[in-house]
Amino acid sequence: MYHRGSSFGRPKLRSRVGTECTPSERDFRARARAEINPVTDAFRRRYFPAATAADWNDYRWQLRHRLTSMRDLSRVLVLSTAERAALADPQRAFAVGLTPYYASLIDTTDATTALRKTVLPQAAEFRRGAGERDDPLAEDTHSPVPGIVHRYPDRVLFLVTDYCPVYCRYCTRSRLVGGNAGFGMNRAQWLQAIAYIERTPVIRDVLISGGDPLVYTDDMLDWLLSRLRPIPHVEIIRIGTKIPVALPQRITPGLAAMLRRHHPLHISLHVNHPAEITAEASSACRRLADAGIPLWSQTVLLRGVNDDIEIIRALMHALLTIRVRPYYLLQCDPITGSQHFRTPVAKGIEIIRGLRGHTSGYAVPQFIVDLPEGGGKVSLVPDYCTGRSGDDLVFRNYEGVDGYRYPDPGGADPGLM
Ligand code: SF4
Repeated sequence: MYHRGSSFGRPKLRSRVGTECTPSERDFRARARAEINPVTDAFRRRYFPAATAADWNDYRWQLRHRLTSMRDLSRVLVLSTAERAALADPQRAFAVGLTPYYASLIDTTDATTALRKTVLPQAAEFRRGAGERDDPLAEDTHSPVPGIVHRYPDRVLFLVTDYCPVYCRYCTRSRLVGGNAGFGMNRAQWLQAIAYIERTPVIRDVLISGGDPLVYTDDMLDWLLSRLRPIPHVEIIRIGTKIPVALPQRITPGLAAMLRRHHPLHISLHVNHPAEITAEASSACRRLADAGIPLWSQTVLLRGVNDDIEIIRALMHALLTIRVRPYYLLQCDPITGSQHFRTPVAKGIEIIRGLRGHTSGYAVPQFIVDLPEGGGKVSLVPDYCTGRSGDDLVFRNYEGVDGYRYPDPGGADPGLM
């Protein structure tokens, strides 16, 4: 179990989050040159007129100016009555936070728009739907030491922080992140987690997540990666992050140069909507890809946000253009208060059917359901096999045309495959 409410905690953690460090000369020059997309720049000039382009492009400035309260949000958004009520509701346990940059991507007046629904609370998040749990994947019961979830045989999840630049209302770890449950990590806990990985030789893959690991300073991340990399049985390290789309200013040349020293390193990017694919996100991903880091996407299927073939297709195409390989389309986990976000499982299969064959295979993610109680991920695909005829299997193709035969003498009945 996690050691919630331990004496280790968020104040110490905060000091490691990179809000106050002196930037390197190289990063400063890169910031001053960095592009700001026109919509975001108009937002900056209107709502943060004192911020120079260099300020805006400094991730530390962005973190210092996160919008975390009704007062902050109402300065840049016309809040609906329902949003105000949800923000003020004493039942609200999950923190609110978004960077000024991310706020520039959401509609400032319309509370029904896609990205806005993912980061602004709604009354529905206070209701527990059927089958919903605070820890739907039973991560806490698969935690041998604080910060480690060991659910699959050969890989572990290493949760290194409870802090994110943007808090997603459907977050599977809302029980832990945003200051909930006093979960935080410091170097002593990291050492305990690293020691577990060292003494467990079946672990060949470490996924660093949280919270968002890239909120740490380059030095802290370098320290962490430098301790994981020499472990002989750790073949790959992955980082799960939303920062390239939520705080792309964090992907500095210095960060990319540091990360490339720790290959083989992969990054899983949490991205849900084409509106997140901006010039800034593109630059961030280019910097990471140029550092030789394979980039993979993870998209949560969300009702009223992206549960539409055209939106998912546009997102997958956009990801490929910024060198991110579409990887997972995830059914929203049954986290407490997420019923309003969850689609029927059939919707995900319908979306995959609308992509497969209709666009490049590279643009087709796997549709995944993460089974409750720690059952693990299963991939669901549309069923194209309609039966057997003698030695042939019979298929329907991607256009819905029936009757394609594939020779399969002695093969299994489709129902048994
Ligand atoms: S970025 Fe990830 S960990 Fe952070 S709130 Fe969103 S889903 Fe949760």
